[in-house]
Amino acid sequence: MSQRIPATLIAGDGVGPEIVETALAAFDALGNPFEWDTQVAGLAGVEAAGDPLPAATLASIRRTRLALKGPLETPSGGGYRSSNVRLREEFKLYANLRPARTIVPGGRFDNIDLVVVRENLEGLYIGHELYIPIDDDPHAVAMATGVNTRQGSRRLLEFAFAHAVATGRKKVAIVHKANIMKALTGIFLETGIELYERKYKNQFALETVIIDACAMKLVLNPWQFDVLVTTNLFGDILSDLVAGLVGGLGMTPGGNIGADAAIFEAVHGSAPDIAGKGVANPTALLLAAAMMLEHSGLHGEATRLRNAISATLNTDHVRTGDLGGKSSTGEFTRALVARIKNG
Ligand code: NAD
Repeated sequence: MSQRIPATLIAGDGVGPEIVETALAAFDALGNPFEWDTQVAGLAGVEAAGDPLPAATLASIRRTRLALKGPLETPSGGGYRSSNVRLREEFKLYANLRPARTIVPGGRFDNIDLVVVRENLEGLYIGHELYIPIDDDPHAVAMATGVNTRQGSRRLLEFAFAHAVATGRKKVAIVHKANIMKALTGIFLETGIELYERKYKNQFALETVIIDACAMKLVLNPWQFDVLVTTNLFGDILSDLVAGLVGGLGMTPGGNIGADAAIFEAVHGSAPDIAGKGVANPTALLLAAAMMLEHSGLHGEATRLRNAISATLNTDHVRTGDLGGKSSTGEFTRALVARIKNG
């Protein structure tokens, strides 16, 4: 390995430190491509610095522009905002990239290979909400404002289309609800069609699908889709739907990518019910690590890691309890490292 790439490491809460240990063992076996700056956030951040997103953690990501993070708990009480939302806003992480690939065959759907690209900063998730009291009911009326901008839509669509081309995808579907929310999701649809016609026309096929029909089609025949690109709320729902197609959140990585940084994570939470027991499945975080390697241009290392994960699960049959196996996180880690070194 020539020059190691500076990156921030946040172990996170609950099972975070256990699965991060597996990821570090995997990176070690791959020749240590990253030079880690270890920081804290979430509950660990509150304990260490009185803030779920301490200034030192933000400064580290500002410097490295690249991070791998375990799941973070938002402390209830104390008025803390979600660290994940704050990170997205702070580093303008406008694209949420959620690949869903079948790794363990024999589930309800085999051979799934889909990507959801979700707009991460705009839409109905901007938090402009209010109640209007009437008579003695303080919650008589609830209102939320959604905001999608041309510029925000375009940069996300540009990211999704460029990602489709760079990864050799054949089809992109713009998912919307412009038949009802004509302005809010219509702007996203019209911007996507315009961008495609102007710049991407012969590089992949474009289709447009209404969100409700898309949800049904994904369950009936998920293989008809390739890349799905959509606004914040629809993307949140669809990315969990496609995670379900490949065995649930324990198998799904995510990348939050933006103008100022890229942060990779497992999609699942801190799993407090199994934390400290040494039984957590590190697969989702390892797949996030593979995305991070790819993002850093280390395609060979990413492929070696993915192949080792698949061989550990499917050839060695080393699986944690959530996948019906009996192996501990430590046993999985040892088998994975052997596969990386010998594979
Ligand atoms: P969760 O994903 O932590 O757990 C849901 C279920 O899945 C639990 O039964 C858990 O044991 C199991 N599970 C999750 N990850 C697993 C793994 N790697 N191996 C084996 N089993 C696993 O969801 P939750 O219980 O709703 O949330 C717990 C905490 O995590 C909350 O504080 C929540 O806010 C936080 N959270 C953080 C993130 C993030 O940082 N990206 C995402 C979701 C939830």
